Amino acid sequence: MPDSVPSPFPPVIAVLLAGGTGHRAGFGRPKQLELLGDKPVLQWSLDAFAAHPAISGGVLVANADVMAALDGLPNGWKTAEPGIERQQSVDHALQSLSDWSDETLVLVHDAARPGLTAATIDRLLAALSSAEAVIPTLPVPDTLVRQDAGEAGDTVDRGALARVQTPQGFRLGTLRRAHAAAAATGAPATDDAQLVRQMGVPVQTVPGDARLHKLTYAEDMTILAGLLGQDRMMRTAVGMGYDVHRLVPDKPLWIGGVEIQHSHGLEGHSDADVALHALTDAILGALADGDIGDHFPPSDPQWRGAASHRFLAFAADRVAARGGRIEHVDLTIIAEAPKIGPHRPAMRARLSEILAIPLDRVSVKATTTERLGFTGRREGIAAQAVATLKLPEN
Ligand code: MG
Repeated sequence: MPDSVPSPFPPVIAVLLAGGTGHRAGFGRPKQLELLGDKPVLQWSLDAFAAHPAISGGVLVANADVMAALDGLPNGWKTAEPGIERQQSVDHALQSLSDWSDETLVLVHDAARPGLTAATIDRLLAALSSAEAVIPTLPVPDTLVRQDAGEAGDTVDRGALARVQTPQGFRLGTLRRAHAAAAATGAPATDDAQLVRQMGVPVQTVPGDARLHKLTYAEDMTILAGLLGQDRMMRTAVGMGYDVHRLVPDKPLWIGGVEIQHSHGLEGHSDADVALHALTDAILGALADGDIGDHFPPSDPQWRGAASHRFLAFAADRVAARGGRIEHVDLTIIAEAPKIGPHRPAMRARLSEILAIPLDRVSVKATTTERLGFTGRREGIAAQAVATLKLPEN
């Protein structure tokens, strides 16, 4: 609530944007909930704002899933519903701040940048004593060139360019006007400072901080852990899995999460996807967490005809719950027929989707056994898998 005691300084509030649901970057959950050190990425910014003496409170823009993962909110904080686009999320936050005066200072921050320090907040607030809007920027260290169709062109003067970070600071009244103007014209912008500039209001810059590195890809977690001194000792764990199912006539054939047209299908209690079973066991093996039969007993009728991607997703969730990640999976399908080769791209894509890891960490191979043994006689199909995980040392 607004401070009722008159003060020579305008109150300061924070808007923390944590509405993204991006699983696409290779995380097993929304990236703002990835564990960095001993707390979720989002909690870093929340703690930094809450600990700063000038900040009265804030608005966390996040959905219920994200809220459920936090231990409550700091004093003076409330929540707002995320929008589809960033601009809409900020609009929702502004609506929830209708009690606050135009003189209030507001810092709009992206939760995917956990390295927020008091010094950065201080620089922004100092600039807002005279400016309407301020953004933290960093120089561009690399040489920049134009490129066209893979050919390097002229150098771009990088002295005239800067990288923009968050938090971005505004007088609340200025930000309100900018969003109202954008809503009226339908003008989109990648950040709030651009909306303010579109009204002709100058945006000041202050030095940013390398620790405000943005979490976009899974690899950024390693960079952030180093920048924020949270290098965890991670150990490598490798697990293997092996499975066989019998081929029977007139059944759908599911292998590697993909349905393949064939005269025969695999017999089993679930959909009998032999490849997903081997891979599930490989991941459980790396976790030293039993096998697929322990978690999904064939005696339990609820798994009759179950789609095996559920088993695999379960194993991936167990990895995330330990604070670990899947580095790589390698699958070999052993079958005389059908031909697996044409289906490999679809299988890799499907496994990448189920495991929420990039495609280049998913390998699918196939072999025959030269007509030898049960696979050679087309009585069944076998699969073996190896999963490589990184798990935190305890
Ligand atoms: Mg099986």
